[in-house]
Amino acid sequence: MRALFLLNPRDLGIILTYRCAGHCRHCLYNCGPRWPDEAMSAAALRQALEAALTWPRTPQVHLTGGEPFFYFDLLLEGARMAAEMGIDVYVETSGSWCTGEAEALERFRQLRQVGMSAVLVSCSPFHAERIPPARTLRTIRAAQQVFGTHRVIVYRPEFLDILQRLGDDVERPTPLSRYEEVLGVDGARQVLWEGYGLISGGRSGYALGHLAPGRPAADFAPARCVGELLYAEHSHFDLYGHFIPAFCGGLRVGSWRDLGAVIDDFQAERYPSLVEVLIERGPYGLYEMARDRYGYAPREVGYAGKCHLCVDVRRHLAVADDFDELRPREFYEHIE
Ligand code: SF4
Ligand code: SF4
Repeated sequence: MRALFLLNPRDLGIILTYRCAGHCRHCLYNCGPRWPDEAMSAAALRQALEAALTWPRTPQVHLTGGEPFFYFDLLLEGARMAAEMGIDVYVETSGSWCTGEAEALERFRQLRQVGMSAVLVSCSPFHAERIPPARTLRTIRAAQQVFGTHRVIVYRPEFLDILQRLGDDVERPTPLSRYEEVLGVDGARQVLWEGYGLISGGRSGYALGHLAPGRPAADFAPARCVGELLYAEHSHFDLYGHFIPAFCGGLRVGSWRDLGAVIDDFQAERYPSLVEVLIERGPYGLYEMARDRYGYAPREVGYAGKCHLCVDVRRHLAVADDFDELRPREFYEHIE
């Protein structure tokens, strides 16, 4: 049986910025061009990496966003610092910045030189709706040339072929409606929602919820979030100091600047109040609490999944009160 590590992911994403070109409909962190032009400082990035080293199990780290290539000098410095500390580091990008092959090759060469170990390129119909697929393809080619094919991960590779066949012109984004035109509504649902394995958090429950059947809140009454909140294999630190578990955008377990104290509290089962509700009673418990104490009304059209329910309730609570765990605040302003 695999050992459980409390609040100690295997893979830690460091969100250098929430700003990016995308505003993708499936984004779990509600990133996009409307976020401030802000990035983590190099000093804070060093602290975040040092905090990661204090865990009993050092995670691999991915530098991410938003779009980390928007702040290339910081990305380069982060890769250098992580490699010097002996941390396995890779970068996650959508390739939106990649308008020319020569510049891409140069950037990847610099990253490789300072110790970046791999590149993950996001590829999906949701990205392709905002970012011309040609840029994604160019990013993959350039990264493979520098890092070799085995050190370039395309997430998800099955869409590479679909995107090239479905779009009229890879230099232009492909609207999602194209999938319905070609595959029909049911086919599009299968490819887009189930095929991608969408999580209903972030803005996806709102922007893509029509692809999944709307379910009443009570359907999610059995769900609990113990695994995601206590033992997530994948978590994030962001530029504002928030430690975000699993894929729960807009929800923090505490500040990564006080990582030791946060872990001590969790070991003693002292949790932030909303986190405690989610651990013990799940998103339906949060819904009941918000309905009874804060006048939350359920969506008549239902919810695409348990995380959609959770985000919708949190969105209400973020306005109704000042919960420290509902951060960053901008997450709730950039849902739409
Ligand atoms: S999924 Fe990636 S590219 Fe799309 S909005 Fe989110 S961070 Fe930006
Ligand atoms: S329901 Fe909420 S706390 Fe649970 S996994 Fe989804 S976003 Fe995270």
